[in-house]
Amino acid sequence: MTTSAGIAYADPVKDALHRDLDSVLWVVCGGTATGGPAYAAELHPERQKTAMEGLLCAVCKAPAARDERGMLWILPLLDDATDLILEGVRTAVPPMCQSCAEKAPRLCPVLRDGHVELRVHEAEQIGVRGTLYPRPGEHGTPDPDALVLYDSRDLPFVVARQVVRELRRTTVVAFAAAVT
Ligand SMILES: [Zn+2]
Repeated sequence: MTTSAGIAYADPVKDALHRDLDSVLWVVCGGTATGGPAYAAELHPERQKTAMEGLLCAVCKAPAARDERGMLWILPLLDDATDLILEGVRTAVPPMCQSCAEKAPRLCPVLRDGHVELRVHEAEQIGVRGTLYPRPGEHGTPDPDALVLYDSRDLPFVVARQVVRELRRTTVVAFAAAVT
C-alpha cells in the first residue's frame, strides 16, 4: 500500500532490517523457570506501552538495567546476522532488567536461536506500529503492520499496538549464536 510504503521505509536495506527484526522481536518470553515459561507471540498492547514508555523490563516490569554504557536491550538475531547494523535499529521490544536478561535466553526459544545484547544510550520514541487504515475516499485495504512515525501525516489513521523506539549510540556487549 502506498501510504505505508511512503512512511518509514525509504532505505530498502533498513526496510528489510526493520521488518525482519520487528517481526521476530515481537516474540517476547515471560514466565518463570519454575512455573514453566509462557511464550507470548506479542506483548499485550497495554503492557508493551507501559514497559516501552516507562523503559521497564519487558518480562517483569522492573526498571531496565543501566550502567555507564547505557540501557540493556536483548534482541533476537536472524540467520547469520553477525554483520547486522544495530545503530539506529527501530524496535518495539522494551529493554530488560539484569536478572531477566540472564534468564531469558535460556527460556525463550527465539532468543535461543541467536541474540545480541546491547547497551543503548539513546532510545527515542519515534512512532508506533499498528494497523493503518486508508483515508476516507481512498481505496485499498488496511495495513495491519505499519510503522508510523510521530511526525507522519498518517498518524491520525493508525490504530497503534506498539510503541517504537530507535536505538542509538549502541554498544554490542555480546553476540550469542544459535544453540544447536
Ligand atoms: Zn526483568
